[in-house]
This record gives sequence, structure tokens and C-alpha cells, in this order.
Amino acid sequence: MAKFVFITGGVVSSLGKGITAASVGTLLKKRGLKVSILKVDPYLNVDAGTMNPFQHGEVFVTDDGAETDLDLGHYERFIDETLSEKNSITTGKIYSSVIKKERRGDYLGGTVQVIPHITNDIQERIISASQGLDVLIVEIGGTVGDIEGQPFLEAIRQMSVRVGRENVVYCHVTLVPYLEAAQELKTKPTQHSVQELRRIGILPNMLVCRTSHPMDQDMKNKIALFCNVPPEAVVEVRDEATIYNVPISLHRQGLDVLILKSLGLPFENELDLSDWARVVDRYINPPEEVKIALVGKYVQHKDAYLSVVEALHHAGIAHNVRVNIISVEAEDLEKGSPEKILSFADGILIPGGFGDRGVEGMIAAAKYARENNVPLFGICLGMQMMVVEFARNVCKLQDAHSKEMNPATLNPVIHLMEEQEKLKDLGGTMRLGAYPCDLVEGTRAAQAYGELKVSERHRHRYEFNNAYREKLEAAGLKISGVCKERDLVEIVELPGHIWYVGEQFHAELKSRPIRPHPLFDGFVEAAASYMRNK
Ligand code: GLN
Repeated sequence: MAKFVFITGGVVSSLGKGITAASVGTLLKKRGLKVSILKVDPYLNVDAGTMNPFQHGEVFVTDDGAETDLDLGHYERFIDETLSEKNSITTGKIYSSVIKKERRGDYLGGTVQVIPHITNDIQERIISASQGLDVLIVEIGGTVGDIEGQPFLEAIRQMSVRVGRENVVYCHVTLVPYLEAAQELKTKPTQHSVQELRRIGILPNMLVCRTSHPMDQDMKNKIALFCNVPPEAVVEVRDEATIYNVPISLHRQGLDVLILKSLGLPFENELDLSDWARVVDRYINPPEEVKIALVGKYVQHKDAYLSVVEALHHAGIAHNVRVNIISVEAEDLEKGSPEKILSFADGILIPGGFGDRGVEGMIAAAKYARENNVPLFGICLGMQMMVVEFARNVCKLQDAHSKEMNPATLNPVIHLMEEQEKLKDLGGTMRLGAYPCDLVEGTRAAQAYGELKVSERHRHRYEFNNAYREKLEAAGLKISGVCKERDLVEIVELPGHIWYVGEQFHAELKSRPIRPHPLFDGFVEAAASYMRNK
């Protein structure tokens, strides 16, 4: 049976619980344990699929097509495991399934209540996600004291009764603010949030304190005394130059040993974090810098392209260059001159997106990069706009567009397929999750991957229109990746260009700090060579 680490948050949100959970996962996996991480989101949405990137940041997609919270991206990058639909639960998901069971009569006429029906369903999902593991880490989203979070906290309290207190660890991530006027750190908010946890029967084993200033031993002793934990169970996390240093910092303070001891697991062996140390060192001290223009439509939200940003950094780490990402609002390129706005860029990345706002700006960026031999990488909507640009300006299909842009005119080089059109009114037309992609030998894509059969994750509705394939290929666009079983175009490139690659899938979702994605790797390498030859 698996053991459990429950991670809660106190005082304020955005404390980095996700990074803490992911880092604990890294450390436990490095100890040879089989671990995974489950995210609990107390909102009423069934999944993150319908959520606006401006409000909620990126939607992370798993191999099995679940549209999840972006924390799952951190988990996969940190623990290097493939997660699934089971790794994400929301209030919406729980209530939908309980109500469905009630309608079916499964509760035999009983009164259906938050306790025990909702809390039982939560526990069943936690148990089911822990099958085959040594340790399941469960991150409870939100802050202790939120109304929405209460059933989840009650469920994790009951878990200790269900599986035994010795198989459960509660780790509370909290804020220790610095008061400028008093020139000191304050422990009261932490005391109060731990009291709140204890009021509902959860006694945290350890506290991870987010703070902007170093905490001395007296401060730790004080928190330990008031919060009823040993002083060594008070750990601090300050803002780091990179999130990839958090596992190293937590290990240095002994958090992993503390967790292992509490769970009765072996903790004596030394663990090797040299690969992470190398990632951090290369991230902080690279000798060179490349400037990448990120031409998107959600650029004001710092997390809207989180996985793309991380994937660029991973490639930078591999090539020992700092990737300086400069956001460019796609709409600005519709008003101003792309030559001026983009002249700084050593590479241009056009990421995914939905709706027609900003697409003409993306097309202008693609044209600029194609004509001036600047490295260009298009992802999903970005690839689609590269195709539209090529159709318009090279093939002279003047009214070429994507179905999303203007359904009324001719030449949708990016369109909905017939079977999708039929399903349109029913909603489910999105291609989600992993699909196989066959690469064409001798192409840049095949070279980058170093193999001919790959699998990549999707989240989109529109597809390259095969009716235009011949025309575009005759004009020089190379189709270098296809999904054979469904006859779909997955990757396009331009031979002879320094780096012109567009992909229909989301390569960023599979990049890791110690193993950058081949296409990001190739793109950043091309940008570095462009920068050196400028
Ligand atoms: N909006 C486009 C589509 O639905 C692209 C989606 C995306 O970039 N994720 O196909």
C-alpha cells in the first residue's frame, strides 16, 4: 500500500505549493521510491479545459487527453513521470460523479451529503491514484480556511484514520511576511493558519515557510513551539533565481529525510542531485544570451505560456545560453512594422491560442521570419498561421485563411474536417492528448528527434487542409511529420531556411529540464547560431 504526503497552503495563495510538491516528488524519486503527484483543485469547473488563459494561465494536457491545471506541468518536469486524468481532481468532477450515482439510485434512497459521500468519493480517487506507488503526494489547491477547500481537508484528515497515521504526512506551506516598518519577520499568520488546520483535526508534521528574509534559529524555534512541530521541521523557502533550485534547497534543510522518517521509510542513503545542480548552474551562469520574441495573444498573463517558457529554458540550459524571452503582443504587429518591432529577435516563437484576435499579427511575424531567414518556431495556432502566411504570400492564394479566422471566404487552408463538422454542435470536436507522428527521413524534424516515430500531445480543433497539400509542397513547404493513421499533417518546415518549423501539437508539454524537447533544442541552437553570426 502507498503512503501519502498531503500538502496544504496557508495565509495566502501563490506560495509555490506546486513547486514544493514537485520538489518533494523529485527528492523522493531520487531515493528510489515510485512516486506520483495528485492535484486537487477546489473550484467547480470539471476540468481546466474551459478556463480562460488570462485568468488561469496555461491548460496542461496529459497523454490521455485530460485538460488540467498547470501545476501538473511542474510535476511532470520535476519528477519526470507521465501523469494522467487520475492526477487531477476538482470539486466539479467529484460532484458530477456523486450526483450521477445519486440519479442512478446507487445510494439506495439515502440522504446524499458532503460527509460522507463527497469525502468518500475524494478518498476513493486518492486511493485509486496511489495504486502501484510507494508514495503519492497530494497537493490541495487554495488556502486553508477557504469554503471550497473544506471537504478536501476533511477527506485528507479521514485518510489518516483509513490508512494509519504512520502512513501519512501533512506538510503545510505558509507565509512568514517581513514587515518593513518593524524590520522583522512575523510568525502570527503562520500560527493562525496552523490553528485553523488543527481546528479541523489536521496536525501538520512540518512547515515550509515562504519568506523574503532569512529566518534565524530563534524564529524557527518560536514557530515550532506555537505550531507544535519539532524545530527541524520548520523549513524556509526564499525566492530562488530558478525554481529548479528548490529541490536542492529543501534537501539541504533535510525536508526529504524528515518526510521519510515520518513515513517509516529508509533515509540513510545519500542522494545524488548533481544533474539538478548542473541545471541550476547553467541556468544562472551562462556565457551567452539569445533573445527570443514570443509573439502571442495572452502575453500579459505570466503563466499563459508557462510550458513554452520552461521548454525554452531547458533548451538554453542544454546549449549553455540564457534564453531571454521578450513577449510581443501579436496585435501590435498588426499596427506597427514587424521589421522594427522584431529586429531585436534571434528567434521568433509563435505559440498556441484560440480565436481570431491577433492572428494577422502572427502571420506578419511569420512572414518577417521567413523572408529574413530568422529562426521561426510555430506551435499549434502558430503553425497554422505559418501555413496561412505561406499559402497567401508564396502560393499567392490571396484569400487563404484559417477556418477560425473567417468561415465565409474561400481557401481555408486550415479547416475543420468533415467528421468534426458533423460533431460541431455537440461540442466534442477537439483533438486532445497523445497521437503518433511519423517523421519524414532526411528532414530537419527527423534530424532533431533522431528517430522516425514519435508521440506528441494535442489540443486543437482545426487541421491542415489536405486539399492544399500538393500546392503548398510544390511551392517549397515540406511536410515533415504526419499522423499516418488519420492522414493528418503534423509538422511543416522550409528546407534551406535557418530554422522554420511549425508543429500542430504542443511539443512544450514534454520537455524536461534535464532532457529538452528536440524541437526546442533545435530552435534554440539555431537562434544561438543566428545571434553569433549577426
Ligand atoms: N485555435 C486553433 C485550433 O483550435 C489552435 C489551437 C491551439 O493553438 N491550441 O485548432
